[in-house]
Amino acid sequence: MTETPRTRETRPAASASAPQGKPAQGKVRTTGTAQVRPATEGWTQQKDAEGRPLLQFASPKRGKPPVHLADLTPDERIAKVKELGLPGFRAKQLSTHYFRHYTSDPEQMTDLPADTREQLVAGMLPPLLTEVRRLETDRGDTIKFLWRLHDGALVESVLMRYPGRITLCVSSQAGCGMNCPFCATGQAGLTRNMSTAEIIEQIVRANRLIAEGGLGGKKADDHSMERVSNIVFMGMGEPLANYKRVMDAVRSMVAPQPEGLGMSARGITVSTVGLVPAIKKLADEGIPVTFALSLHAPDDHLRDELIPVNSRWKVDEALDAAYNYYEKTGRRVSIEYALIKDMNDHAWRADLLAEKLNQRGRGWVHVNPIPLNPTPGSIWTSSDKDVTDEFVRRLNDAGIPTTLRDTRGKEIDGACGQLVATTEDEAASAAMV
Ligand code: SAH
Repeated sequence: MTETPRTRETRPAASASAPQGKPAQGKVRTTGTAQVRPATEGWTQQKDAEGRPLLQFASPKRGKPPVHLADLTPDERIAKVKELGLPGFRAKQLSTHYFRHYTSDPEQMTDLPADTREQLVAGMLPPLLTEVRRLETDRGDTIKFLWRLHDGALVESVLMRYPGRITLCVSSQAGCGMNCPFCATGQAGLTRNMSTAEIIEQIVRANRLIAEGGLGGKKADDHSMERVSNIVFMGMGEPLANYKRVMDAVRSMVAPQPEGLGMSARGITVSTVGLVPAIKKLADEGIPVTFALSLHAPDDHLRDELIPVNSRWKVDEALDAAYNYYEKTGRRVSIEYALIKDMNDHAWRADLLAEKLNQRGRGWVHVNPIPLNPTPGSIWTSSDKDVTDEFVRRLNDAGIPTTLRDTRGKEIDGACGQLVATTEDEAASAAMV
């Protein structure tokens, strides 16, 4: 698909003239339209040899997390149990404890012989996530977890109750290599890929908490039938840069209990910065997950700066891949758009976005603008309400279903990845004294 003619882009000339490496930080007001250019404050974006924002696709080599039942196929589970000197059918019993009762506690596994329980659990269900911190909203309907992995790496997940559904926002990598300047996770780069079981364990731990009545927001005596119904890969990391482990985790999520978690693929959202070859692969998997593209700008000029991977795959290529996902799967795709004051929230950008989406067809996409969660001390702020409303209105008027996403959990952390950042800062200052 070719680039749309620029006739509708009324971007003021002054906005495009910020010199490389020395972005204008103030507002540039020309034709009544302010344009703030992306810039970082309080931290320096890592650059590659050519001076472009560093992109890390490969996971740095670190000690691998222990192999866990959730990393293995059913056959591999049986083989591993046999390796431990026990009959293969124990694998299914363990899977039932883990995927149906959400437990890794040998004490509760009374159907297993007492003398081998500890050994079996140590070999098949090693501890993967240690809870470091937990933050809750006043109503208790949103809970943010900070987890420590076996090698000290930190990741987050956020559990949210909505009417009729419970959503867990999961991490797929410790850190992230995509270096988006407005995202707290990207600032420290990629620590490592998470294993399949580390991804799954976030859900199992959330389910356990829910079953124990630990998620607020609903009056009921018995929570044992409740569990996470929706997963969004919108925690730390770029899921499509950890493709195999993320897809193995998705397969475990949708496999019927006790082989897996028995979830609906439609309730699982894979969100990406736009790794085009991986989006194409995802479309051919035959698993109808919901696909979300983090676009944040409809023009390459701005998106090159907001989403550094745009230097590899441009707006039109990412949108073509998203459209292909729709064509292959019949699943309507989502466009994520963080509204950032005077940076990407202009009416002309709403129009250009609508035009690019409508060029490809009707009814294939919806847009989810979300007010930016500012990172501390940055120049980035969320758009004013009237600007936000106008942006949404223009898209809806152009026939693109558009719904503003809420910023649940704002009071318990601010931006995604921020809890890890503060904890690392605290650890660093504790180490200095
Ligand atoms: N790497 C994936 C998934 C993780 S981020 C992706 O980029 O899609 C999940 C979503 O949160 C993305 O749409 C991302 O752009 C958005 N996001 C990151 N930082 C944000 C912030 N400070 N405010 C609002 N949304 C943010």
